[in-house]
Amino acid sequence: MTYSEIYHSVKGAKKMIFNDYQKLAFTTAQYPNIGENPIYCILGLCGETGEVAEKIKKVIRDNNGKFTQEKIIEIEKELGDVLWYIAALATELNLSLDDIASKNLEKLFSRKKRNKIKGNGDNR
Ligand SMILES: [Mg+2]
Repeated sequence: MTYSEIYHSVKGAKKMIFNDYQKLAFTTAQYPNIGENPIYCILGLCGETGEVAEKIKKVIRDNNGKFTQEKIIEIEKELGDVLWYIAALATELNLSLDDIASKNLEKLFSRKKRNKIKGNGDNR
């Protein structure tokens, strides 16, 4: 099943705007050797995913695992930072976020159709 078929099969689905986000986000990039520094983006991505984990850890530690609206908003901001670094890394590697998202959906819908969602292995 192609992304186009998946897209048209999901009622209410809107056209993806990942590439627009990717282009706009990258205009805010400020780090050494922009355009030749995927390592910086990988390190940033790891750092920001750690920040998401830290926020959630503190919800467990300090709030009995209950996600208040305030905490959810904090986590949302960190997820935005994760998204920024994913977009920057994709740009550094000349990849398109639209293509990444489309190929991921095609993979997942293929697995779903073949009843292979569960299990291990990248190439199920
Ligand atoms: Mg952050």
